[in-house]
Amino acid sequence: MSQNPDNRPDSSLSDDLAERLSDLTESELRAVISHAESLLPRPPTVADLLEARPGEEILDVEERDGYTKVVKRQPCAQGCEECPHGPYLYHVRVEKHPEDGEGPSLHWQFLGPVR
Ligand SMILES: [Zn+2]
Repeated sequence: MSQNPDNRPDSSLSDDLAERLSDLTESELRAVISHAESLLPRPPTVADLLEARPGEEILDVEERDGYTKVVKRQPCAQGCEECPHGPYLYHVRVEKHPEDGEGPSLHWQFLGPVR
């Protein structure tokens, strides 16, 4: 067991489980962390949340490191004869809203027209 009385495990971890974990080697602990992460629910990805709004055409979606590249054509506010316009390039990320209790949403960063 731990020699440090202040090093108390999280109260949601049972004493039995905490004791078993304290007996593990470093490599076993790393394997436990890796396995535990695979058991946690995965946060939604951009692809999970992405859907075309009315009049939009999503042409390309590519996962990149830290964002997702999305190319789409979209209608303007007026709905003119040339709608939809573009294609336009966006970098899209998932934004979490833990403070106001809303679910995650997409943050769209406009990069410009695609030739
Ligand atoms: Zn238009």
